[in-house]
Amino acid sequence: MRKPIIAGNWKMFKHLSDAVEFVEAVKSSIPNKEKVDSVICAPALFLPTLVEQAKGSNLAIGAQTMHFEKEGAFTGEVSPSQLSDIAVSYVVLGHSERREYYNETDAAVNKKTQAAFEYNLTPIVCVGETLEEREAGNTVAKVAGQVRAALEGLSTEQVKQTVIAYEPIWAIGTGKTATAEDANEVCGAVRATVQEIAGPDAAAAIRIQYGGSVKPENIVELLSMEHIDGALVGGASLQSDSYLRLLEAG
Ligand code: 13P
Repeated sequence: MRKPIIAGNWKMFKHLSDAVEFVEAVKSSIPNKEKVDSVICAPALFLPTLVEQAKGSNLAIGAQTMHFEKEGAFTGEVSPSQLSDIAVSYVVLGHSERREYYNETDAAVNKKTQAAFEYNLTPIVCVGETLEEREAGNTVAKVAGQVRAALEGLSTEQVKQTVIAYEPIWAIGTGKTATAEDANEVCGAVRATVQEIAGPDAAAAIRIQYGGSVKPENIVELLSMEHIDGALVGGASLQSDSYLRLLEAG
């Protein structure tokens, strides 16, 4: 049985005081981590504060991106070693917004995924198709290609620990959710791809989230599907009451 993982991706929202208020409001009400992994992926600027604040609670804190090098002359970047040093536990990699606006390639996502494991961070690797790709019938080819590229060179154990977030680009921030059946079909294709790459044990263990306009109103149905093991949530993770309602579905 795979443990659900529900992660909020705050993107570039909130100020530090709002973030602190949020964590204060939720931290004693987060479900037990034996039952569900509850994560907030916050702007890098907030991470040290939130990690300290969430210590001893069931809430885990993640980053939204990182560089793949340990250190170096990369102005503005944050390294895996820096995240690990302050006890961040998750990192979102290859989000479609990073791929689109910051030229994050499949090759870079692969290097970052490898670096995450080197520094004890759990990677949440995002994949997903555009509306044009979906309409042209290329969804599975696109997503499977992204999964193969991201996982290249990982050990079976590392593949098992990776989290894949399937986020159809046309469903992000648009209010349009994929139907639970469509989302499950693509998540099933992701699992089949993992099986080809790393075998049946890895395919059975890897957790696959759905993301794209997930809300308290639709998460229960999404999580009831065979291949959907959690959610990566943008807008509906910004309010503490809504975030807690999402976790209840886990
Ligand atoms: P929304 O939940 O706001 O559609 O965002 C999804 C997303 O991109 C999470 O990473």
